[in-house]
Amino acid sequence: MTKTSMFFTEPEPRRAQGVEVAEGIQRMVADNPGKMTYYGTNTYLIDTTEGRFVIDPGPVEDHDHFEAIVANLGPNPTGILITHHHSDHFGAAPALRERTALPVYVSRVFPDDAFEPDGYLEDGDVIGGLTVLHTPGHASDHLCFSRPDGILFSGDHMMSWNSSIVSPPDGNMRDYCTQLQRLIDRDDKICLPGHGPVLRDPRPYIQRLLGNRMRREAEILAHLSKTPDTIQNIAASVYKKSDPHIAMAAERNAAAHLEKLLSESRVIQRGEIWETTEKPELSDR
Ligand SMILES: [Zn+2]
Repeated sequence: MTKTSMFFTEPEPRRAQGVEVAEGIQRMVADNPGKMTYYGTNTYLIDTTEGRFVIDPGPVEDHDHFEAIVANLGPNPTGILITHHHSDHFGAAPALRERTALPVYVSRVFPDDAFEPDGYLEDGDVIGGLTVLHTPGHASDHLCFSRPDGILFSGDHMMSWNSSIVSPPDGNMRDYCTQLQRLIDRDDKICLPGHGPVLRDPRPYIQRLLGNRMRREAEILAHLSKTPDTIQNIAASVYKKSDPHIAMAAERNAAAHLEKLLSESRVIQRGEIWETTEKPELSDR
């Protein structure tokens, strides 16, 4: 594992193959690489006191990945856990249930009414010895799963390879920051994210993630103290992303920051234009 900027990289993982990343935990990387997914979605197969669980079967399109999960279920498969409803994590879950008859467990606030889960999970629930944390922000229904020996399955709430997109209305920056702070206040030894490599000693990294968000927020307020502006102009000025796909993500993140600031009465919105309510001489530093 090498490090560029504050984020972590790794060589392209082999596909359709489970690799043990911690005792009793196999990681398998789906073949859905992209600007938002790195090499692809991480599926984890976890041996628990109740049997083997699958966390996030991945996208529905990756047949080889799907078959590799089925082949790696072992003699005592028990259930399928979903971190959040986005299709790169949840997509293959209905087909995997169909194929294996394993129950699928999702958040109590899972937003996809078309899917009938076998069980709902809430903050504080324990399943297979894993404690459920409801961590809204990236997605309203996002769950992390914590093993008592200090391993946290952090999904897309906290990723090692990049920061997470927070896109309103389902994404919520205020919740996201609260839930990042919650991870900082914990004492996890290893994070296993939804995309990207294993992250050891996660706390300093998560502190930097939260620090980056706070810096962006300060930059947005500084920009608005000079001129009321649209989301597009604010994102272009603060994030400076030329790649159109990344620029779009930056706009969604800027929108999320503005909604957070709106909920805190620190900005107001007039049509397309956002303004700060703070005095320029205080915020323009
Ligand atoms: Zn994802």
